[in-house]
Amino acid sequence: MRCAIVGAGLGGFVAYNTLRHGGLEPDEIVVFGDDPDPAAAWRVQSGAIRQRRMRSESDGHCFPTTFPGLAVRETMRRRDPLPTLLSVCDRYRPSVEVFLRHVDELRERSGWDASFRQARIECVRAVSGGFELDGHGVIPHVLLAPGHPGLALPAELRGDPRVVHAYEPHEYGSKIAVVGAGMAAATEWRNALEAGAEVVSVRRREPARRPLNVARPLFTKRGLARFRAEPRERRAELLRSFSAPSYPPGREWDEPLERATREGRFRVEAELNGADQVICATGFRRGYQHAPVLRRLVEEHGLETHERWIFLADDCAVPELTDPGRTLALVGVSSQWAYPAADTLVGMKYASRRFLQRVQRCRTR
Ligand SMILES: Cc1cc2nc3c(=O)[nH]c(=O)nc-3n(C[C@H](O)[C@H](O)[C@H](O)COP(=O)(O)OP(=O)(O)OC[C@H]3O[C@@H](n4cnc5c(N)ncnc54)[C@H](O)[C@@H]3O)c2cc1C
Repeated sequence: MRCAIVGAGLGGFVAYNTLRHGGLEPDEIVVFGDDPDPAAAWRVQSGAIRQRRMRSESDGHCFPTTFPGLAVRETMRRRDPLPTLLSVCDRYRPSVEVFLRHVDELRERSGWDASFRQARIECVRAVSGGFELDGHGVIPHVLLAPGHPGLALPAELRGDPRVVHAYEPHEYGSKIAVVGAGMAAATEWRNALEAGAEVVSVRRREPARRPLNVARPLFTKRGLARFRAEPRERRAELLRSFSAPSYPPGREWDEPLERATREGRFRVEAELNGADQVICATGFRRGYQHAPVLRRLVEEHGLETHERWIFLADDCAVPELTDPGRTLALVGVSSQWAYPAADTLVGMKYASRRFLQRVQRCRTR
């Protein structure tokens, strides 16, 4: 076995498809995870907030190459040029249904199921020639893709029977407080209003209005170079600013709120007060400290960290444990130190392609 992917969500899936595209066979890759469906976690989360369209733009798919993406395929299937035209100016957002069908089809033909092992990895230990993953032998190249380490709930609301997290399946009551003010919260305001509820948005800060969480230049080479040239404190400050609440500008978001405000069904308050249902749109817990496999890796190998981030090389590899003969790298939200938009399909492709390069370099040595 040449490569292991720990974590079988969308991050692991994007990496798997990249490795397959780079010439690795299914019997050279093992994927460890809880569920063989790579969209299992995402299906629940996006279904809970009734997400209809992808948040990401044209490159938001799991194919190993950017082009042709879902837009071209949708154009061919529907005989409609619009998806491709929209994708040319990066305005194509496929429906969740189209995206999930794409995941199912790619899973089927990539060999994913042949590489999948249902197992949770507790411990990644560096040994001569690679990494020992619990009792699964020594593997030279390992990519960790554990995703978000659980849902975040405000401490004061834990155990409150009125509370549901936005990413857990739920229906809507008649008087709802939505805690948070990011994309999930904005989606929930709309959902609850459409369901006929009275909605209070509980927030202490006004959300920013921007299309993506992460500033657009950070998807470019030049923007990344500038980010990486910043001193560590400033880099961490920037990363923190990207997790501040934001949702896209536009009338589709504003109109339902303006109408509901006029009808007395929507208002903003700073404190929770008298709702019969509390929806916490408060995202995920943050930091490697909450992911047992990462915390243990850091502690046992004395890895360098900065606040909640593991310090990474620009290609998302862990510098202390990577050399020409072996690779340990991260993909998904835990690789933010190298790539701020790591928790996007585009970010997953970035980390996966660089992981593949290391594997290939090692093969040709
Ligand atoms: C509602 C929602 C909508 C989003 N929409 C978009 C979008 O439109 N476009 C976009 O680009 N991004 C989007 N994202 C962001 C991102 O693509 C998703 O969060 C994505 O699911 C992250 O994938 P992941 O593999 O990193 O994590 P996950 O999907 O959480 O998968 C991680 C997997 O690893 C497993 N695992 C963890 N630890 C171990 C271990 N030690 N051993 C074995 N297995 C382990 C977990 O059980 C899990 O199955 C969205 C996120 C959310 C929540």
